[in-house]
Parts: sequence; structure tokens; C-alpha cells
Amino acid sequence: MQSAIGTERPPCVHGIVGRVSADAVYLDHNASAPLLPAAREALLAALDAGAGNASSAHGAGQRQRRILDDARESVAALLGARASEVVFTSGATEANALALRSAAATDANRRRIVTTHAEHPSVLAVARALEQSGHDLVIAGVDRFGRASAEEVCELVDASTGVISMVLAQPVTGALQPVAELAAEVAGRGAVLHTDATQAVGKVRVDLTELGADLVSLSGHKFGAPHGIGALIVREGTTLRNALWSGAQERGRRAGTEAVALAAAFGAAAGHVRGVEETFARHSRGLVDLLRDHAVERLGATCLSPGEGVLPNTCLLLFEGCPGDMLAAALDADGVHISTGTACASGARTPPEVLLAAGLSPDAAACAIRVSVGAVTRSSDVLGAIRSLGSVIPRVRAALATT
Ligand code: PMP
Repeated sequence: MQSAIGTERPPCVHGIVGRVSADAVYLDHNASAPLLPAAREALLAALDAGAGNASSAHGAGQRQRRILDDARESVAALLGARASEVVFTSGATEANALALRSAAATDANRRRIVTTHAEHPSVLAVARALEQSGHDLVIAGVDRFGRASAEEVCELVDASTGVISMVLAQPVTGALQPVAELAAEVAGRGAVLHTDATQAVGKVRVDLTELGADLVSLSGHKFGAPHGIGALIVREGTTLRNALWSGAQERGRRAGTEAVALAAAFGAAAGHVRGVEETFARHSRGLVDLLRDHAVERLGATCLSPGEGVLPNTCLLLFEGCPGDMLAAALDADGVHISTGTACASGARTPPEVLLAAGLSPDAAACAIRVSVGAVTRSSDVLGAIRSLGSVIPRVRAALATT
């Protein structure tokens, strides 16, 4: 198959049109979702809105401020949060770092950080860096689907715990984590609860009050905004320590001139996905089931994603004896884009930490591929991927047998 990047497709099930390659089959929505037209329009309109700095008192600055305020309202509404609780960042990596570093510094007597092996590298790496600087780090295990237990995490929380961080949806297996249950169990124990909701937002309903977390990270490009914009939701009453020092932007919580056009696109994407989670779930689950059933029944795959309590669009498949990086490269040459884990860890040639923690050997974990569909994915895409898998798997195995 040949690709023609940027060709527009007809509207998908719930009217969302995204720009993806015309011929290529893009099944890596967890790495990045296609830019939504509404986000693109908002981006261009904000760029064309004229000069101005949202912090300037004059009319030009205030025009930018209004665009920013509207975007903030829209992002807040997606999560049932207040606009004042939204701190714009460059994405979830920054939001996670800001959350952990701030929470870890809140109380000098609370040096313990509790997290899980289900976390994205942008949480684990910061937690490990904090450990190097004298914090006490404990990491809870996961089950075979990469799911942590609220009870086990809770047992690790003691009077010296300053931060607890649990991802809301595991990015590789898609397993949903018991954040609300954990929030209820640790309430009143004096630790700040952070959740990285990056993969969940836009795919399942996320409500700040129901979640009960103090800090919530999200990223625009996972649901149709451009790269480079995200947010940390800071629940009222939670202190956030600025990690950058300059102006008092974002109410003194994140210094630096605001990326107004990116925020506008983020707000537009948030408005677009708000309230369509059930339609999205029905649509994507049907596609994932089709692919998974075929892969398991006809191609001998093992599914490493849970059957329930999982992102509706995600499926992690293991083809024994078929290294995921070789399979992904062969599928790519065939015009089918999938990944072997999170994009942030890809290229490292080490399997995702969560799979090793889930009990897989490094060799088995290296044979996993992640399929993640989106609102623009059609059954013809999945059927194309199924056809490619059927021809590519024997080729990869044959190539390995001759080496
Ligand atoms: N957290 C999770 C769960 C993610 O999946 C990702 C992106 N792979 C990130 C954080 C990092 O997000 P960003 O690309 O916005 O820095």
C-alpha cells in the first residue's frame, strides 16, 4: 500500500473527521490521534487573531486572553473541573513532572513516593530522579494485564508518604486502573494523589470529582489537538509549586508566555470529544474485537489486554517467536502503522517495563504489538491489518528461521 499523507476521509461514525493517510492503515491512536478539523480551525483562527501576549493589559493582549480563557473553560468542562483548576503545559510529560516534583516538595517530613509499574516512563523516570535526590520510592506491582491494585498501593502508603501516583489507563495494555478506589482509601492520609489520565481522556469519561485525585495530567494530541499542549488539573485546595520562574502566568503555577493558539486547538478538541465517549467506545470496541478475535483464533496470538476494564480502543497482542519490532517494521512496509509499546519508549529496544512487571520474560515481552484504533478507523482498516498480519507473520518467522 502507498500512503498519501494528509488526505481527508469521509466522516466516521460520530461525525468526527480526522486527517490520516489515505491508503495507510493507522492503528496507533494511543501514540497520537489525528488532528481534528475543529482543532485545526481553532489553531489557525487563533494564529490569525493578530499580535498580542495574553498577559498584556492592552486590547491586543486581552484578545489573546479571551481565546485562552475560552480554551480553559472547554478543557475544564471535559473533566468536570473548574477553569481555575486548569494549568496549561506543553503536554503530559511536563504535567507529570510538575505534579510529582511539586507534590514531593510539599512537606519535608513526607519523603515517600508511592507509584506503580503500570506508569508511563514520564512518571517513573521523575520518581527515580527524585529517589536519587533522597526520596524514598516504592513501586507497586501489577497483575498479568498490567493492572495495579488499590489495596496493594494503599498498603505501601505510610505517614511519610507525600505523593501517590497511579496512571488512569495503562498506555500499553489499556488496562484501567482503580484510581477512584485508591482515592477513597487514601483520603485524609495527607498524601497528594496524582493520576496520569493521558490515555483515558477522550476515550472514556473522566470526571474529576468521581476520580477524587488532587492532580490530573492530560495531553491534547491523544485526542485530536496538536502536539505540544496539555494540562495539569490542580484540584482546588492542592498546592502546586512552580517549576519555572518568571512571570505569574497560569496563576503563578507555570511561568512562560502562554501558547494561546495551541490552547485554542486543545479547547476545540476537548469540546469535540466531550460527551461522545459511549459512541466512541461502541465504535472502537467493535473494531478491536474484530481484530483481536481474528488474531487469537486464526493467527495464534495471545491477548495481553484485559477483557473488561480496558480502554475500548486498545489491544496488546503477542505473537510468539515473532519480535514486535520486526513485525511492526514489516507491517509498516505494508502500510499498516502499529507500535510495540509507548512511542516515548520505542527505539529503546527494551520491552515496556509494565510487561516485565506483569511477569513476561524479556523475550516474550519483545513479541508484543499494540493496536489502538480511533474514531476515524473503519472496519476496512482493520480488515486490511488482518490481511497484512496474515502475510507478514509467516515472513518474519521464516526470516528468523534462516538467520
Ligand atoms: N502519559 C501517558 C500515559 C502517555 O501515554 C504519554 C504519551 N505516550 C505521556 C504521558 C506523555 O505525553 P506527551 O506526549 O504529551 O508528553
